[in-house]
Amino acid sequence: MSFGIDNLPYGVFSRGDEAPRVGVRFEDSVLDLTAALHDEVFATPSLNAFMARGHRAWSETRALIRQKLSTDLAVTATHLVPLDQVTLHLPFEVADYVDFYCSIEHASNLGRMFRPDEEPLKPNWRHLPVGYHGRAGTVVVSGTPVTRPHGQVRMGVFGPTAKLDIEAELGFVVGSPDGASFEERVFGVTLVNDWSARDIQAWEYVPLGPFLGKSFATSISPWVTPLEALPRIPGRVQDPAPLDYLRRAEDWGLDVTLEVELNGEIISRPPYQGMYWTPDQMLAHMTVNGATLRTGDLYASGTISGEQPDQRGSFIELTWNGTEPIKLADGTTRAFLENGDTVTIRATAGALSLGEVSGTIR
Ligand code: MN
Repeated sequence: MSFGIDNLPYGVFSRGDEAPRVGVRFEDSVLDLTAALHDEVFATPSLNAFMARGHRAWSETRALIRQKLSTDLAVTATHLVPLDQVTLHLPFEVADYVDFYCSIEHASNLGRMFRPDEEPLKPNWRHLPVGYHGRAGTVVVSGTPVTRPHGQVRMGVFGPTAKLDIEAELGFVVGSPDGASFEERVFGVTLVNDWSARDIQAWEYVPLGPFLGKSFATSISPWVTPLEALPRIPGRVQDPAPLDYLRRAEDWGLDVTLEVELNGEIISRPPYQGMYWTPDQMLAHMTVNGATLRTGDLYASGTISGEQPDQRGSFIELTWNGTEPIKLADGTTRAFLENGDTVTIRATAGALSLGEVSGTIR
């Protein structure tokens, strides 16, 4: 069951004029946790207060919810609100936002495009998870319209971007900065669409990296799936072996597959399973210099791309250099996004659904 008792992602919902509060998705309903668990930590418009309680509280709460939804279902059902009666909000207050570049296929594809005369991967790529700091304040929840950004699209030219793109990514939410391990620090995962204006990005990014080509909007799904719920698989072999601070006690990856839908048609199925750098390595890297974490920090994997042409997580890779533009059933084609286009990214983790993140360009 995609939203059954083994999933139970957390989100923030409201019904009518009621104040937004924390709930858990169960099948086609939201369990009102304030009412079901009699705990005021859930009567707030973000997951942050609950996440700050730490790993033991997350585990105990999840076990309690599972019990209430199985043995006590008759009572608990009175606190289930049908999904079609609620508005879903940004699930947590985003503290800092970092975006990585962890797919070797994506990094290689972009290297070949931007630097055709060089090795596709820069010398640092296999030695550390490359990343940049993004803009936490413009992280928005799924369903929020995305306004086509204006900027310097090339030398001397200001105007609307002509190369509006997506990046299909997985995001990791820091719950408890003081946790003793990755599992005690990271609360769960969410889907991320890192909207990107490729013309603005190409002109501005040297030498300090992405800036206005990315910071206008980053969309996330309304549900945060607990790390505890996610199936693990063996991780990818890393060559060369990473430095000690990036070495892992246990070799694991996440069994997550994404799909990218444009105006109702699936155009790509990016596989998270093959990502090179892993979420525990990203967390180790972003704090190894003494940088602190806060509850609500969001860090994302970077564009997820697989080896196959239909597994790429961005338009620039799907349509680049001689490849046919994306053909849609209505007879139109796309190299990049047009106004009115809707992109929806969904994902599954084994039998579980991670929900979706959607946005329409205006
Ligand atoms: Mn990105």
